[in-house]
Amino acid sequence: MNIGQLLTLRSESGNSGPRRGSELKELGILAEAAVLSIGGKIVSVGSAKAALRDPWIQRNRNEITEIDCAGNVVVPGFVDSHTHPVFTLPRLVDFEKRLEGATYEQIASAGGGIRSSLEGVRNATKATLVKKVLGVLGDIAAQGTTTVEAKSGYGLTVESELKSLAAIREAAQNWPGTVVPTLLGAHVVPKEFQGCSQKYVETVCLEMIPKAARGRLARFVDVFCDRGAFTLEETEQIFQAGRANGLSVRAHLGQFTETALAPLLKFDPASFDHMDHVSDSDLAQLARRDTITTLVPGANYFLGLKEYPNARRLIDRGVPVALATDYNPGTSPTLSLPMAMSLACTHMKMSPAEAITAATINGAYALRMADSKGSIEPGKDADLAVFAVKDYREIPYWFGASRCRLTVLNGVPVSH
Ligand SMILES: [Zn+2]
Repeated sequence: MNIGQLLTLRSESGNSGPRRGSELKELGILAEAAVLSIGGKIVSVGSAKAALRDPWIQRNRNEITEIDCAGNVVVPGFVDSHTHPVFTLPRLVDFEKRLEGATYEQIASAGGGIRSSLEGVRNATKATLVKKVLGVLGDIAAQGTTTVEAKSGYGLTVESELKSLAAIREAAQNWPGTVVPTLLGAHVVPKEFQGCSQKYVETVCLEMIPKAARGRLARFVDVFCDRGAFTLEETEQIFQAGRANGLSVRAHLGQFTETALAPLLKFDPASFDHMDHVSDSDLAQLARRDTITTLVPGANYFLGLKEYPNARRLIDRGVPVALATDYNPGTSPTLSLPMAMSLACTHMKMSPAEAITAATINGAYALRMADSKGSIEPGKDADLAVFAVKDYREIPYWFGASRCRLTVLNGVPVSH
């Protein structure tokens, strides 16, 4: 109750599908609004006055838990469609080395980078990883996020990848929000397979993916397709195995080098993430499809890069874009989507409205969950975030501090 600005994210143009171009500015704002949810689902959305006059609400007022939002802004709970929460330690040596001038690839070839996180996860018990992930989920809700995609990818053995996914599942069962698990066995070729990456790809395709699918431990298969990670041909092989085992696919793409998208688009990927480098002809293909381009400016910021993904070029060409944190210990140790939104505004020239849409409904499309997440509409899950601001543009404006005071996760309110 008493919501000053309610951003419903209902499509004003009535178009279904991911938001593109000018649709990214359609926030569906209601003033002086109220939302009613029952059993974790949104039942009605409208003016506070109409809610108070509603005979059913009048009759049942004593049964209803009322949350007074004090004239503040309420948004759909953010959908963070790209995180790597299963690791044990921060990578502080990499951090310092980079400040002294080392590049991502120099750090990786000196034994740092993704490979340096493997030992911790391989040696950890599942219980230790569950505790880590659960801590992440609690902290991310405090930033306004209610749906989180969570990748494995710091074990890179069959056993430790399955352990990571099992830890994600157990943590998810103890958190009221929604977690979408992704197998990222193809994060990087581990040391023991160096020089014979094909053997490792076979392990991913013939063991990890079938076992994760059989155990219902993952909904997506992800691949890091770039220089220093997996080739386009290897990515196709892994996508093929994912689809054959009933899993949807997504990829890290174009962070350092450009990759031709056509061979991958035939697998109907839910999302291509990073996409700092992409050709004009590939943009035209993306504009015609529902594959989301997920931008993760936290990684550019933390790597100290001057260049950010060219969001304006993507949006102006009609490519649907989402924003995510890319939370990970090496290149983007942040759980804050408001921070990613602030970077999207200041460094990528997205408007605050475009940034909100990218972090909500288009994030939901990136996880193929837009029929239940990403907007505040009857029938959808009751996922909301209350920010102690009077205007939604303050969310990316006050960078570096969370103004989120309350999240409602599948109908369960949690104060921060
Ligand atoms: Zn990532």
